Amino acid sequence: MTSAHVLGYPRIGANRELKRAVEAYWRGRLDRAGLETTGRELRERHWQAQRDAGLDFVTVGDFAFYDQVLNVSVLLGAVPSRFGADAEIARGEVDLDTQFRMARGRAPSGAPAAACEMTKYFDTNYHYLVPELRAGQAFRLASSRLFDEVAEARAAGYPVKVALTGPLTWLWLGKAQSGSFDRLSLLDAVLPIYGEILARLASLGVEWVQLDEPALVQDLPIAWKQAFESAYNALRSAPVKLMVATYFGGLGDNLQLAVSLPVDGLHVDTVRAPEQLTPVLDNLPAYKVLSIGAIDGRNVWRADLAALHERLASARMRLGERLWLAPSCSLLHVPVDLTAETDLDEELASWLAFARQKLDETVTLARLLGNRASAEDRARVAAATAAMDARRASPRLHRPAVQTRLAQVADADLSRDNPYPVRARAQRRALDLPLFPTTTIGSFPQTDEIRATRRAHKSGELEGEAYEAQMRAAIADAVQRQEVLGLDMLVHGEAERNDMVEYFGEQLDGFVFTRHGWVQSYGSRCVKPPIIVGDVSRPAPMTVAWSRYAQSLTERPMKGMLTGPVTMLQWSFVRDDQPREATCRQIALALRDEVADLETAGIPAIQIDEPALREGLPLRQGEWQAYLDWAVECFRLTASVVRDATQIHTHMCYSEFNDIIAAIAALDADVITIETSRSHMELLDAFQDFAYPNEIGPGVYDIHSPNVPEVSWMVRLMERAAERIPVERLWVNPDCGLKTRGWSEVEPALANMVEAARVLRQRH
Ligand code: GLN
Ligand code: ZN
Repeated sequence: MTSAHVLGYPRIGANRELKRAVEAYWRGRLDRAGLETTGRELRERHWQAQRDAGLDFVTVGDFAFYDQVLNVSVLLGAVPSRFGADAEIARGEVDLDTQFRMARGRAPSGAPAAACEMTKYFDTNYHYLVPELRAGQAFRLASSRLFDEVAEARAAGYPVKVALTGPLTWLWLGKAQSGSFDRLSLLDAVLPIYGEILARLASLGVEWVQLDEPALVQDLPIAWKQAFESAYNALRSAPVKLMVATYFGGLGDNLQLAVSLPVDGLHVDTVRAPEQLTPVLDNLPAYKVLSIGAIDGRNVWRADLAALHERLASARMRLGERLWLAPSCSLLHVPVDLTAETDLDEELASWLAFARQKLDETVTLARLLGNRASAEDRARVAAATAAMDARRASPRLHRPAVQTRLAQVADADLSRDNPYPVRARAQRRALDLPLFPTTTIGSFPQTDEIRATRRAHKSGELEGEAYEAQMRAAIADAVQRQEVLGLDMLVHGEAERNDMVEYFGEQLDGFVFTRHGWVQSYGSRCVKPPIIVGDVSRPAPMTVAWSRYAQSLTERPMKGMLTGPVTMLQWSFVRDDQPREATCRQIALALRDEVADLETAGIPAIQIDEPALREGLPLRQGEWQAYLDWAVECFRLTASVVRDATQIHTHMCYSEFNDIIAAIAALDADVITIETSRSHMELLDAFQDFAYPNEIGPGVYDIHSPNVPEVSWMVRLMERAAERIPVERLWVNPDCGLKTRGWSEVEPALANMVEAARVLRQRH
């Protein structure tokens, strides 16, 4: 037989039960026992789903009230001292509230403290809590939650496989506090705890433990490669079978290392890296189990089971019973259950598979390969084949007009008419802005009233005209407040948008939206990414009416506001039948029409937000340039349609530009606004060193904080900026959009910002 398993299952619940319970607990509306009950019920339901589907194991260890990496930090006793007296931490169990305080700074019990840093898990949209590492740090087994969960599953009669972040990847994901010491110096202290964990799991009757080591798909320094060998040599005596799980890409130059680790099994991703299957098979020692990740754990498309069967037949021949089958990575990254999508048309639904459906696919494929397919399995394969054939042939995928236009894109379409210095002169004449012009990033406070209006419109309670009148009122209000504040370049405020991708996706052909397709983003936060099904095009203008109305209310220049093509792509489920870049070009072309229409409507400046440009970087440095090339090209395709006098802005809210500064410059936006306030403008060094040629608005106001920044503080920040960038090319603006703040914070903050600009103008 061929064993079927998953690396992990979504824990949030088909109705986001975990989100609701955790948030109720934080607010004091649910007690600890109630929260634990919800956790238990969800685990039980998810194990049952795995069993019902026919998997050979249920996976334990993928559940977390907040984050699975944080779970491991707690398990290892890696709790920073600010979360409790060291002495206390050094004994007993780490309490659940301590875990929540690490995650978010506060919890129903315990003193508030600065939360741990959070960042994206590899190239996913899932955020984990960064382990804080200190030189000489001590570790101890500090939680029994995992063992309790194993006991729970065993008591319910499930065959258990445990999944846990492996020691190297845990350290890899961690960040050295205070100074720079080598994280690897902690390995010897961490390994004995892993040893203890494995021994304890064995005593609970666990046969297999999956140690997640996705760090193996990245470029590893030589010391880390060696550490993999020595660490797994140290763990080989554990009384359980170990499977090292790799995913999100190919092993590349770590292939030899990975296949020869002294463990009982290896999991590889053959969705992202199909080409590695043969070399892995060729190099795998004869004693080892190979788990092939053949079902896409990162995307929502139904698997072509017949094709996979054919592709994997030789692996089955070579491996026999040593072949296992699984989705490519944990199913954490896809929505829970397609059957909840009652609004999707049948055809579209037949092309998709969410986590629950992927369990069935995995089992069917395993049975096919093991020659144990039932009539039901065969029917499933036939249905998948039929759906695939229909999808490939569907007119929903292919719009000849889009293809034709793309084929006609010429080099000239990718560049503005003139270089920046020429454009800057034309823009100065057209816009008549002072030195240190002030602006904002786009959104203004999304008041309860605005949200209620949008909701009422969406549910059909509020008719088009009434809705538009209320949105216009919100725009007029925002414009008036900006005039009173004395801002130089205004925005309409984005009242009509609940989400910067959804707003555009809903108006573009080629995108579809689910009702319940939630995916955990971090903690209790979920996102519902749209699905790009077919060729993208723009049937009608999307923002022009709002921007034109906003401009009609004021003499000052109004900035149009768009989400860029790379961000649209990055925050969606993308079709898998063409390269990502092809889809991105289509989006760019659709947005280009919007840019042109905004210009025609008399909008003198257009901002194209690309906050996700950086997160699209491939996991291997060697692939960066190819990505950056097409990402930059897509941005330029979107932006370059305008004449010299129309000012193109872009916005990015992260604070690492050093390694991508050339690409940022190649975007050739006239103005870039970036997040800098918390980095004290040091981040501008990258721009200075590169001699970045265009205008920059380094954020002076941290919008994540409710504090109102002082005039002198912002002046000082801008003075630091002026040491690095010529003042003629500096703008004054906040770090990011203001939609999560209230007007009572925003107005005094912006008043101070405008005052700061006045002070600066006097000085320069
Ligand atoms: N224009 C958007 C806003 O202001 C930008 C959001 C973002 O950068 N994530 O809300
Ligand atoms: Zn931003």
